[in-house]
Amino acid sequence: MNEELSGLVLGYKMVQNMFRTGFLVRATHTVLTWVITLILFVHNTDLRQCEERGELMVPVLFFLLVVLSVLLYFAVSLMDPGFVLADTVKPSDLESESMMPQSSTCRLRRCGFCLLQQPMRAKHCPTCCRCVRRFDHHCPWIENCVGERNHRWFVLYLMVQLLTLLWALHVALSGISPSATWESWFRANGFLLAALCVVGVFSAVVSVLLGCHIYLVAINCTTWEFMSRHRIAYLRECEDDDSPFDRGVLCNLWDFFCVCGAVAWEQVYHRNAQNPV
Ligand SMILES: [Zn+2]
Ligand SMILES: [Zn+2]
Repeated sequence: MNEELSGLVLGYKMVQNMFRTGFLVRATHTVLTWVITLILFVHNTDLRQCEERGELMVPVLFFLLVVLSVLLYFAVSLMDPGFVLADTVKPSDLESESMMPQSSTCRLRRCGFCLLQQPMRAKHCPTCCRCVRRFDHHCPWIENCVGERNHRWFVLYLMVQLLTLLWALHVALSGISPSATWESWFRANGFLLAALCVVGVFSAVVSVLLGCHIYLVAINCTTWEFMSRHRIAYLRECEDDDSPFDRGVLCNLWDFFCVCGAVAWEQVYHRNAQNPV
């Protein structure tokens, strides 16, 4: 009964989030996705030809990939990115904290907006008005922060989205047909050409974004840390330009994709400072 109730509350909160901020951008993403999918299916593309021949495997796979990309988009967009809910250091933790080397990086900052203790790597997002653990960036396209809890899902979403876009690009190109005059060519291919342009631009953007994120994940650095190194106290104290959280590419990728739960970055920081990789 309690589980049902908490499920209902969670569902209600998700719907409330959907209609609060970002409704327009989410609706735009969804409408754009399905309009382009419809254009690809109604023109004489590879998908349409497969359908007409009764070979439904490829069109169904494409459709399912589009559905998966939309589901992942909504999951990343509506998920808690890792908001800081309460002070992390309790009186009982002070004893273990005193074991760490005393420096300014040991003392947790208090956010000037939500007045909560900020764990190391957390940052206040002015758009969400909350502090986010292991803050990466605020993404206007998902209208949500990317942080400790949804970063791996964000990268997975980018992978699925890129795959969908590249497939859509191939399908759109297969539907462009020649015509006797420019006028009849535009009349026959206008919508397909528009879809091709949108898909082409998004493919380029998502490729660059995915490449940057994979690189930063491999060195265990966030976009915020990479862009604003000089403004971050715990990075200013580092001797070289490396990420103080870097444990080697394979370990970083494993931790990022396979290890769930909040990480005490202060401990990783001090461990790495004592035993540099
Ligand atoms: Zn804050
Ligand atoms: Zn945000």
